[in-house]
Amino acid sequence: MSSRKPVIAGNWKMNTTPAEGQTLAKAIADGTRESPNVEVIVSPPFTGLSDVSQAVAGSNVQVSAQNVSSEQSGAFTGDVSVSMLEGLASHVIIGHSERRGLSCETDGVVAAKAVAVQAAGMTPILCIGETEDIRKLGNPVESVRSQLRDSLVGVSDWESLIIAYEPVWAIGTGAAASPQQAQAIIGEIRQELEQLAGPEAASKIRILYGGSVNSNNIGPFVDQPDIDGALVGGASLQADEFVRIVEMTARLENKTA
Ligand code: PEP
Repeated sequence: MSSRKPVIAGNWKMNTTPAEGQTLAKAIADGTRESPNVEVIVSPPFTGLSDVSQAVAGSNVQVSAQNVSSEQSGAFTGDVSVSMLEGLASHVIIGHSERRGLSCETDGVVAAKAVAVQAAGMTPILCIGETEDIRKLGNPVESVRSQLRDSLVGVSDWESLIIAYEPVWAIGTGAAASPQQAQAIIGEIRQELEQLAGPEAASKIRILYGGSVNSNNIGPFVDQPDIDGALVGGASLQADEFVRIVEMTARLENKTA
């Protein structure tokens, strides 16, 4: 683990009513009080943002939205703009593979969202990762590097950015990448960031692994030199399990601090 503060972010996807989200968030806030050396983020659906942000006020837990529009206002039925997230979220997940796949979001759309999120003073959690088809072709590195470049067009604030490398074949499948596989690609992502942002800025950007992370497999991921935490889907919906993931990360961080 490096000197970068680790991040454990939970993506609740389309789960939890506002009341369920409030209960889950409170349990996570209580359970992670003793782990201040880990940045803990939860991402409820839009409908839960208000209750969850109240539930975690004064705790170690920050709140992220799962998506946002790059537009500011107007005739965009069903969308939410960055200004509507004011006071509700400090982070926004953008470019999740489910949005890229189900809603046909291109790298250009994702880049516009990254710019809008930063301009509003929030931090984008930019998701990138290769599909199963690209993986089968043998070498996903170039695909991931070009996805990163194209999803960051127009971004110049390198201090307010988290990257999540999420191989699509590992999301929700129970078949996580190996920590070595993830490190190999995340090392390439950091090299690409060096070219985009310069070596110093790139050395400070947190890069997470995502894809079937749980409390049994988190340790070896955060032990890798370039992996700074995890974006967690399914396992973030159970407070005890999510808290264990944070605790494991905190323990490893304490050992190396
Ligand atoms: C995700 O939703 O980003 C994710 C990584 O899900 P899971 O942990 O369930 O694979």
